[in-house]
Amino acid sequence: MSASSPLTVPDDSPFGVHNLPYGVFTTADRPDRRRIGVAIGDHVLDAGAAARAVGAPAGPGESAGFEALGASSLNPLLAAGRPVWTAVRAALTRWLTDDSLRAAVEPCLVPRAEVTLHLPFEVADYVDFYASEHHATNLGKIFRPGSEPLTPNWKHLPIGYHGRSGTIVVSGTPVTRPSGQRKAPADPVPVFGPSRRLDIEAELGFVVGAPSELGSPVALADAAEHVFGVCLVNDWSARDLQAWEYVPLGPFLGKSFATSVSPWIVPLDALAQARTTPPPRDVEPLPYLDDRDPAAEPSGFDIALEVRLNGHVISRPPFAAMYWTYAQMLAHLTANGASLRTGDLFASGTISGPERETRGALIELTWNGQDPLKLADGSERTFLEDGDEVVITATAPGPGGTRIGFGEVAGRIVPRPTT
Ligand code: MN
Repeated sequence: MSASSPLTVPDDSPFGVHNLPYGVFTTADRPDRRRIGVAIGDHVLDAGAAARAVGAPAGPGESAGFEALGASSLNPLLAAGRPVWTAVRAALTRWLTDDSLRAAVEPCLVPRAEVTLHLPFEVADYVDFYASEHHATNLGKIFRPGSEPLTPNWKHLPIGYHGRSGTIVVSGTPVTRPSGQRKAPADPVPVFGPSRRLDIEAELGFVVGAPSELGSPVALADAAEHVFGVCLVNDWSARDLQAWEYVPLGPFLGKSFATSVSPWIVPLDALAQARTTPPPRDVEPLPYLDDRDPAAEPSGFDIALEVRLNGHVISRPPFAAMYWTYAQMLAHLTANGASLRTGDLFASGTISGPERETRGALIELTWNGQDPLKLADGSERTFLEDGDEVVITATAPGPGGTRIGFGEVAGRIVPRPTT
């Protein structure tokens, strides 16, 4: 491509041709018309328009994908399965790099700054895990001082809970401070009111494409047949509500008021160079979770996150440090025969590394509010205040020294209207 073409993307772009994340967008002139877009450089390729402009599909996989690219959400593409995902990715790569297609493809590009991005798929079921040993250890020390930080089950199974898919929102959606019951240990009775300990959880989310049959667990080795791609997640958490309500059934209203996701879904295929071996298994896993086969492709990912609060970097969580992998999470969540549906989302849990500056939640960064964060502008935070904005970004290594960007998941806290 010549330098004047919008298809000439600098090598250091997080949205280079090796990434090709999928989203759903509208433009100002057609706010009612949601279309599938693929990020490329500073532009978005209108994928359905490009499929029509380039013409007849080359193979059967491409034909099915060609139809799916014309949809208003990613669900038909997600449902189509791995062979179609591979064929569509190959076609997109050709459309964006073959000079003979340039005249057809260029008119299908929209400047990224001019689009509105939407929740890219209809979220079916939502599960959130707790897969960081550092995060689980820190929370154990904070909540159960004097006892073993990790619960006895922690290294035998990836702990998770079912969340609320209906309140998953796209990046940029304001987050209303939740109200609920709270009761500190010293309080005689609970009170109801706005959360005073509103927190973030920096996580990755895994988007399920191909469904599975009820009664048939998904084996570790088959995870990539079902998982389409990866997004950023901010699992907003009201710690005061959570602390009072969570015994004995786990998180409920302290989590379900909002969960933010990034608008771009990075295909699993874009993360081949980011694959890495997870930390050593300290406890022998049961066979369905045993990923210690050195011949198998590792299921860890070297993905570096960055968390900003009001523009200041407050943490750099490393996904490579996660104890449980996405494949183990998927194998565990279907181990009882529970089926997968297209659009299921399972999130990793807070990503925290071993050092303070790599912790993915304020409760850890401030040690339950005892040690406030000092921001570069001189302000201090324990938990989030109204008006605060949190932005989470991430990158992973791509081929030949390139970077794979995840875009961002952003959200600003707004007070509950006093009506
Ligand atoms: Mn979480």
